[in-house]
Amino acid sequence: MRKKFIAGNWKMHKTTAEALTFAASFKALYGSASGVEAGICAPFTQLAALKEAFAGTGIKLGAQNVHFEEKGAYTGEISVAMLREIGVDYTIVGHSERREYFGETDETVNRKLHKLYEHGILPILCVGENLAQRDAGTAKAVVEAQLAADLRGLGAASVKLLVIAYEPIWAIGTGRTATPEEAQEMCAFIRETAASLYDADTADSLRIQYGGSVKPGNAAEILNKADVDGALVGGASLVPEELIGIVNGCRPLP
Ligand code: PGA
Repeated sequence: MRKKFIAGNWKMHKTTAEALTFAASFKALYGSASGVEAGICAPFTQLAALKEAFAGTGIKLGAQNVHFEEKGAYTGEISVAMLREIGVDYTIVGHSERREYFGETDETVNRKLHKLYEHGILPILCVGENLAQRDAGTAKAVVEAQLAADLRGLGAASVKLLVIAYEPIWAIGTGRTATPEEAQEMCAFIRETAASLYDADTADSLRIQYGGSVKPGNAAEILNKADVDGALVGGASLVPEELIGIVNGCRPLP
């Protein structure tokens, strides 16, 4: 049975002081939210303080990016060993904003995934099509090609532990959410693709989140779909009450 996983993606928001204010409120609210995994993917400068703030709560900690080399002359970059030292559980890889604005490619995504597994940090791999691709009817082909390239060379044992976030680019930060049926259809397709790249058992184990304008008001109907194992949440994850509303949306519909 896959445990639902709600991950906040704070992007470039909050100072450390603001992050700690969030953590204090969210911890109190999350206390009652058993059975659902929750985590925050924060900017690098906040990670150490949040690790301490979340100690003993079960709330997971994630980074939003990492470099694919072990160490070296890469000014401004952060290595996996640096994240591991802090005790980060997850790292987002291949978010569409990094692909679009910072030159992230399937090749660098693939190298980052390998490096993370080497050090025991789990990736949250983002895939998804843009609006032109959806309108042209190529969304599944785009996602399938991303998966094949991003997962190249990874073994089934690694992929079983993977979190994939399906994030249609047209739904990120736009207020336009995929319908629950659209989210389910693509998440099921991602699972089928994993089954053909690996095997049914691997596909059944990995978790697939939906991301793109998830809010407390639309979370439950998306999160109760069979192949949607959680959500990657941007804007709504900045407010503790909104994020906990989404966590609570993982509970079965009456
Ligand atoms: P959003 O962002 O929830 O603000 O649409 C989602 C994401 O980019 O991960």
